[in-house]
Amino acid sequence: MIPARFTNKLDNVFTTQGSAIFFVLQRCGYIEKSNVFAAATAPHDYLRNIKAMDKKAFNPFEMAQTQFDHVAEILGLEQGTRDLLRNPLREYHFSIPVRMDDGTVQIFKGFRVQHNDARGPSKGGIRFHPHETIDTVRALSMWMTWKCAVVDIPLGGGKGGVICDPHSLSMREQELICRGWVRQLARDIGPLRDVPAPDVMTNGQHMLWMLDEYEAIHGAKFPGFITGKPVGMGGSLGRTEATGYGVIYTVREALKELNLKPENTTASVQGFGNVAQYAIELYHKMGGKVICVCCWDQHDQVSYTYRKMSGVDLTELQWITDKFGGIDKERAKGLGYEILSGDAWIEQDVDILFPAAIENQVTGETVKKISKQVKLLAEGANGPTTPDADKVLDERGIFLIPDFLANAGGVTCSYFEQVQCNINYYWDKEEVLSKLDHKMTSAFHDVSVLAKKRKLSMRNAAYVISVNRVASACRDRGWV
Ligand code: NAD
Repeated sequence: MIPARFTNKLDNVFTTQGSAIFFVLQRCGYIEKSNVFAAATAPHDYLRNIKAMDKKAFNPFEMAQTQFDHVAEILGLEQGTRDLLRNPLREYHFSIPVRMDDGTVQIFKGFRVQHNDARGPSKGGIRFHPHETIDTVRALSMWMTWKCAVVDIPLGGGKGGVICDPHSLSMREQELICRGWVRQLARDIGPLRDVPAPDVMTNGQHMLWMLDEYEAIHGAKFPGFITGKPVGMGGSLGRTEATGYGVIYTVREALKELNLKPENTTASVQGFGNVAQYAIELYHKMGGKVICVCCWDQHDQVSYTYRKMSGVDLTELQWITDKFGGIDKERAKGLGYEILSGDAWIEQDVDILFPAAIENQVTGETVKKISKQVKLLAEGANGPTTPDADKVLDERGIFLIPDFLANAGGVTCSYFEQVQCNINYYWDKEEVLSKLDHKMTSAFHDVSVLAKKRKLSMRNAAYVISVNRVASACRDRGWV
């Protein structure tokens, strides 16, 4: 168990910058070895369950099953459907032998879990991590099923991984792992069965090696086999913007429901990475004003809020930001920004809050600091809000756009990549983004209409829609 005095520090631990603290905690025995990967990959859920689960080891798959059971109850799902959906349809466990650079042979353990493909081929990333566990992969594959379903893309949920540490592997050894992973699964994955993508510690290069192996085995070109490829090698334009823009498409619709014009609103943003920067860009284009952003300072090992009451200038901030989304404090001061504490972003008198950094930020404690002026909270990050804070937001009537709806623009654009590859015709950026807008807007309205009709929170309504869509597909196919 992690003592309470450490849990605040853990808020920063699940970033590259904070990983050192995380491993110190692990070495000191505060996180059991078997839980390290679970904590690092589903940290919000991990932290949320530390208290609840007391001394019982946290298992992300049990957590995902508990969430599912709750929605199954709301939906009154029949037992057979519950039994089917609370477990993956298929799992592959295999060994990948690799001749290492020193001439020895090392065996790596690989997984692929296909949680459910009733609505279409499974979709989900492949993670390379030394503490990969099958239960984490199972949980993540289940969450992918719900995410694809809420935006109504014809894909199911999958996830995969290899227990390995890329930091200690040469490029050649990593290539052999990628090719070995595909060799073990070549008949069970593919554009019509299961479409992988990059995830923790894998990137476009790994995807290209996997694609090449798959095509060599099947003797033809199948660019739609895998997504996350570089533009020009089968990747999609618009993928970089997709998650941040997707958040703002849903915010635009929420503001209409709240009878607010974007140009009359102000916002405060936590995070200044990929999601936050593109969300700010589009929100500014719509006329909104962001008065502050908050990010992690690698040098000081704390977060700071950078405020300019007249509105932040996105381009000037980007000039002084590193590739990890960290702003240069001294140069920001020089540009006239006030440097405030890391918590200050949540206390601002603004209309909209965007937690777009990491998990576990809007908690039972920090939620009390939210200004009376705030009307909308859009979760760009995964899991930024704890259930006790959720309750308070609900009581205060703050409109919430839940994470797996708000940030689904990323997987939606990956689906577009797959479609473009399958038809071997690539759309221009405007076409990709207008299709993305359409998908995100319809998904938002489906959730919002249901929330009102059934008097559910936006989060519960999103879950109900996803689970219901997947359950119906299973029923329609005659599986249950
Ligand atoms: P990123 O690494 O590009 O940026 C993260 C930002 O958060 C950086 O500005 C960093 O300084 C800041 N940050 C880190 N720790 C912080 C702390 N303790 N306090 C304040 N700021 C902190 O990441 P990203 O791709 O923008 O992803 C952000 C979130 O969105 C993550 O939760 C991610 O899982 C989620 N998400 C991303 C995508 C995507 O396509 N990039 C898709 C779905 C969900």
